[in-house]
This record gives sequence, C-alpha cells and structure tokens, in this order.
Amino acid sequence: MGAKILEGKPIAQKIKEEVKAEVEKLKAEGVTPCLAAVQVGEDPASKSYIRSQRRSCKEVGIEYKLFTLPENTSKEELKEFIEKLNNDPSITGIILQMPLPKHIDAREAFCWIDEKKDVEGVTPANLGLIAFDMPRLAPPTALAAIRMIEETGEEVLGRETVVVGRSTIVGKPAALLLLQRKFSATVTVCHTGTSKRGKLEEHVRNAEILIAAAGQPHLIKGEWVKEGAIVVDVGMNYVEGKFVGDVEFETAKERASYITPVPGGVGPVTTAILLRNVVEAVKWQREG
Ligand code: NAD
Repeated sequence: MGAKILEGKPIAQKIKEEVKAEVEKLKAEGVTPCLAAVQVGEDPASKSYIRSQRRSCKEVGIEYKLFTLPENTSKEELKEFIEKLNNDPSITGIILQMPLPKHIDAREAFCWIDEKKDVEGVTPANLGLIAFDMPRLAPPTALAAIRMIEETGEEVLGRETVVVGRSTIVGKPAALLLLQRKFSATVTVCHTGTSKRGKLEEHVRNAEILIAAAGQPHLIKGEWVKEGAIVVDVGMNYVEGKFVGDVEFETAKERASYITPVPGGVGPVTTAILLRNVVEAVKWQREG
C-alpha cells in the first residue's frame, strides 16, 4: 500500500483564505499590513522569488514594497536602512533578501531587524522565543514542515522524530517547535557530522516522523524509511532541469504512511505561512 500524498496547495489555499479575512479586518480598523523586502545588489536568482512574494501578497491584500540598494552598500548603510524601516509604522514586516554581498554577514544583518517585524523568524530573539516555548514569529519553512505533520492528524507525543539538517531557518527551529510541550516529540537532529560518522541511515530507519532539510538530492534512500513513517521533505534541489527532494520519493512512498511531494508539498505552505506571519507581526506590534 502506498503513502497518502500530502499536497501543499490545498493547505496553502486554506491558510491564504484565513489570512485574507484577517487582512480585511485589519484594514477595516485602519491598518494595512505592508511587507518590505530589502535587496542588496540584484541577484538574478532572487528575481522569481521576489515576483512570487509580490504576487502572493497581492492575493491576500498585503502591500508589498521592494527596496533595492546598490551592491556596494556598506554594512553601516544597510544597518541604518533597516533601522529606518524598523521605525516606520507603515512598514509592518521586513524581509532581508538573500544572498547579501560578501562584505555583509547575513547573521549580523538579521540581528538589526526589529523582532516584531521579523516575518521570516531570522532574529536571535525569535529563535530564542521558540526555545522558550513561547514562539511568536517562527521561520515559515519550519512552521510549514510542522503543519504538514499536523495535517496527518496523527499523534506526535513521544514519537521518534528525526530532523535532518540544523540550519537556523529550517532544521533547528523545526526541532525546537516539535519539542514544545504541545507536541512533545522525541527529537533527534542529524547533520553533516552524523553523516560523516556513517550514522544517518541508522537514525532515519528509527524515525516514525522524518523531516528532511539537508538540501542534498535523494540523500535519504527510500529503503531507509520506516514502514508507516510520516515523511516531510523540505529539500528543494534543482537537478537536471527539475526540482527533487532530499528523499527518494518513489521508493519512500511505498513504505511511508504519509509523504510530501517535491515540488508542491512544503513549498506552497511556506509561502502561505509567510503571509500569515505578516498578520501575526501586525498583531504583535499592536500589543505595544
Ligand atoms: P542549509 O544548507 O542552510 O542547511 C542544510 C543542513 O543540512 C545543514 O545543517 C547540514 O548540516 C545538513 N546537511 C547537509 N548535508 C548533509 C548530509 N550529507 N547529511 C546530513 N546532514 C546534512 O539549508 P537550508 O536553508 O536549511 O535548506 C535545506 C533545504 O530546504 C534546501 O534544499 C532548501 O532549498 C530547502 N528549502 C525549502 C524551502 C521550501 O519552502 N520548501 C524553504 C527553505 C529551504
């Protein structure tokens, strides 16, 4: 028996409808959510990402403003620019577009964003709040991975959960979110060190819930997947003209109970959750 395929589009659609209704309510109260995207230099790869951000904001009634700063913008100038946006009440969410030029350290730059406008959940404050079991603005991709698990309706409590990847925007926050009391999963985080020790397969074989976020095409073999496991594949790897996940989908789906496709799984849900975060940010700002 094959796994149930967790399609992202219907879930994303539902989230967007909820967001749209909230945006309308906020507008009726005189507040227009506005997302500011800051780009330093014009990386051709981010063009389509920016286009899709603008389109999805429009769909739900969120204003979108793109600020493109020159490639040679200094660290101090970028900091000043972000602080201006932090202090501008008409801007309610800020995205710092990647990649940044080499002379600016992304992690340092993330720290300049006001945590209440940090819709991508990239500031240390927001990551810390997840660890504190009181998340406010968590990274959309991590939230999307969790949402996929919730969609199965299966109980997570005490389940052997393996997260492959420890980045601050996916693996780490996903693991911390699953450790929250409300989920109480038993979480193992695997990373490059795990693979170097040759231990990845062993951990994956044990996983009742698997989140793959390594960015390595077909790193996880279908035969490693435990019978009946829930498999959430966050990986988006461009290989020979198409996107493939971190998990060998065709073989994994014969063993899993649920599995997300790539593309069309976690991706659309991530975009919808980013929009939801824009609304959550407005609510946080209004709390004062
Ligand atoms: P990253 O490169 O910052 O982190 C990858 C992590 O995987 C690292 O922590 C690393 O230790 C681990 N890793 C790499 N190779 C490994 C190996 N061989 N064995 C074990 N662990 C290994 O990447 P990221 O930003 O966290 O993104 C991960 C993947 O998710 C990428 O494919 C990215 O394109 C995708 N992504 C998808 C969405 C979406 O909306 N679907 C959003 C963001 C990122």
